[in-house]
Amino acid sequence: MTITSPLPDELRADVAKASRMLIGAEWVEAASGQTLDVFDPSTGAVVAQSAAGGAAEVDRAVAAARAALHGPWSKVTPIQRGRMITRLAELVEQNAEQLARLESLDVGMPIMEARYIDVPFSVDILHYYAGWPTKITGDTIPVSFPHNFGGPYHAYTRREPVGVVAAIIPWNLPLMMAVKKLAPALATGNTIVVKPAEQTPLVMARLAELVLEAGIPEGVVNYVTGLGEAAGAALVNHPGVNKVTFTGSVETGKAIARAATGTLKRVSLELGGKSPHIIFDDADLERSIVSAGMAIFAGQGESCIAGSRLYAQRGVYEEVLAGLAERASSIRLGPGLDDTTEMGPLVSAEHRDKVVGYLDLSKQEGRVVAGGEAWGDQGYFVQPTVVTDLRPDSRVLREEIFGPVLSVVPFDTEEEVTALANATDYGLGAGVWTKDVGRAHRMAASIESGQVWVNCYQAVDAALPFGGYKQSGWGRETCKESLDDFLELKTVVVHL
Ligand code: ADP
Repeated sequence: MTITSPLPDELRADVAKASRMLIGAEWVEAASGQTLDVFDPSTGAVVAQSAAGGAAEVDRAVAAARAALHGPWSKVTPIQRGRMITRLAELVEQNAEQLARLESLDVGMPIMEARYIDVPFSVDILHYYAGWPTKITGDTIPVSFPHNFGGPYHAYTRREPVGVVAAIIPWNLPLMMAVKKLAPALATGNTIVVKPAEQTPLVMARLAELVLEAGIPEGVVNYVTGLGEAAGAALVNHPGVNKVTFTGSVETGKAIARAATGTLKRVSLELGGKSPHIIFDDADLERSIVSAGMAIFAGQGESCIAGSRLYAQRGVYEEVLAGLAERASSIRLGPGLDDTTEMGPLVSAEHRDKVVGYLDLSKQEGRVVAGGEAWGDQGYFVQPTVVTDLRPDSRVLREEIFGPVLSVVPFDTEEEVTALANATDYGLGAGVWTKDVGRAHRMAASIESGQVWVNCYQAVDAALPFGGYKQSGWGRETCKESLDDFLELKTVVVHL
């Protein structure tokens, strides 16, 4: 295994920025003076210290966001707002390589994925939302109520920003997830406090600098680092926050929803998945096997839409299983920052241990046909793993592992696989491979899932709704409907 030095020289200055948070126009350290270690997951070495923000910093950040909401930001016209978001998109694009490297170092993801997926998609999302500020309109509504003042009336609606938004970000795609929340919040005229995950604070410090460089007024975007139970919980409980937008685990999502009821904040949640990927006998096998491999192994399987349950129809089951085992065994593991790496380490020692627990369970409750072990003598690597013959009630088949572990299950009929696909509390993504058009549409209609991809997988776009059924979440991101989550609807009735 090749190991990069714990910290590449060209990232040294950027990494050091993680010790500060942005509140209004000020870069501050935690009032407590406390910091959190940031690790390079490919070596386990500490590469930075981030500020351990808490209730005090959250208070200040929310106050700054509220001041900006009613101050300078409220005077910015929709066209100006759109231009600022466009400018931010351009700056992210101009700094793409630096952002990709920070992301790769922090998360462990292969630099290729940061370069070609994470950063470009972040740019797309910003461009998409930059077009919206001028198109957020209310309605004029003819009314029929009794003319108690003799009428007539003029009634209309206004769509106003919900106020101060708290964005709580997961560790798997820190840049893209922050942008997914920042862009709609800005497009709709809100102000925002962003809290990155404690494992991955690096990229946000640079993004916050770019926000100011884009001319977005101070206080509109603030960011606070710190632990979920400290900075995160303080945001969710803060009476000055109007809305929480969260991406992360189901358990934390439920805790946030419960906490937010104290002040009845709006909440949108993008949570986990155990997404079924279905290959019928008549599918293009070569493409479907490549796609099924990418669906689970891209990003180390640390993806909410990872295709972690593969259902293969009986006639192609053996070929699909062998094809996936071969792909898993040929993936090149290494540090994310190495250009030739195809799969990086998992994000943390804690998460690696959790995934290894599922690998052990796979051996007890099924048959492992590729991988099955932790990998290397340093860092948080695990082998890409394929398991089959699992007991139907196995936790490996039912629970979100958030790692490169694929379960393969044979099936006979369309009805059977529909029932298997839907036998989960989740409903985020699903893939169907078939050349039968009728079957493709029947499956698309009957799978209980926010996204169904036919003869493709993980096809996401800034204009397409993204979100989950069942316990995969509340609300949709990256689409016109997402704007409603960030807007209040006000009815105005004028007696003429
Ligand atoms: P994981 O369990 O893999 O760390 P989480 O879903 O808990 O993933 O974390 C996602 C984000 O939620 C992180 O930014 C984390 O700090 C934050 N978080 C965790 N617990 C809470 C909480 N109780 N309240 C608010 N935010 C939280």
